[in-house]
Amino acid sequence: MKTLKIAIQKSGRLNEKSVELLKNCGLSFENYKSSLISSVSNFPLEILFLRDDDIPEYVQDGIADIGIVGENVIQETQVEVAYLQRLGFGKCKLKLAVPVDSSIKTVKDLEGKAIATSYPNILKNFLTKESINADIKMISGSVEIAPGLGLSDAIFDIVSTGGTLKNNGLKPFHDVISSEAILIGRKGEEDEELIQELIQRIQSVLRAKDNKYIVLNVERKNLEKVTALLPGVKSPSVIALADENWVAVHTVIPEKDFWDRINELKSAGAQGILVMPIEKIIM
Ligand code: ATP
Ligand code: MG
Repeated sequence: MKTLKIAIQKSGRLNEKSVELLKNCGLSFENYKSSLISSVSNFPLEILFLRDDDIPEYVQDGIADIGIVGENVIQETQVEVAYLQRLGFGKCKLKLAVPVDSSIKTVKDLEGKAIATSYPNILKNFLTKESINADIKMISGSVEIAPGLGLSDAIFDIVSTGGTLKNNGLKPFHDVISSEAILIGRKGEEDEELIQELIQRIQSVLRAKDNKYIVLNVERKNLEKVTALLPGVKSPSVIALADENWVAVHTVIPEKDFWDRINELKSAGAQGILVMPIEKIIM
């Protein structure tokens, strides 16, 4: 493989984050909204901008080598692709929902009912697994208005915050799948050198985003208490300060532990705490 081709969404919910991820990987390219292909100047990569629904098939058929697309789309198109890396953005769930005053309370109550969705394949698989017979009404958009129009008793749709459901007098009652953006490739080609290099760059960006670089000052007598709270990448760096009773501690901690740790650190004697973003973490 001389030049790798990656397919990403042309416009929509995954476009901006996909472009940002590739840029954070140090790839330099023009992001013209009008063009369908962009060449990366400092890596043998071409970027194809496509409708998200087409991405799994383009990858399966070898028109693109890899792609970034929502797991919901991969499952719905039912293509055979390899999951190379979960990307942590574009998170959403596919849920079953009904009008707030509906008598449908559980999955079993869907027996014999009509369900509107843009995801008929995922829904069909789910209903088969649950041994439910229901009438699937395929509609391509605005699924949430179907019950109000009398088209269906329930809906099966993508939900991130739930605001759209609520505004349409619906309530979710069962989550079927969770989804996020995934880097996909063709099965059997995962070990291709250029693909591996790109995956490593992506992983170093994802790791960096999950962590913060922390610098703090502490009196020597409190150093042990403070370092006990800091499980760093390896161990924290301890640097002498002009005042010999004090030291500076530098380390990396996961963003998710961040606020808990900050309070514990302060009570253990840490002062002047600086928190900085990290660009990349190469392991
Ligand atoms: P395209 O024009 O490329 O076909 P689209 O309209 O089908 O785009 P978008 O609405 O841009 O798709 O959503 C792209 C993906 O973003 C979804 O497939 C899903 O994986 C993810 N996503 C995350 N949150 C939501 C949400 N609240 N609603 C819809 N999709 C979401
Ligand atoms: Mg689409």
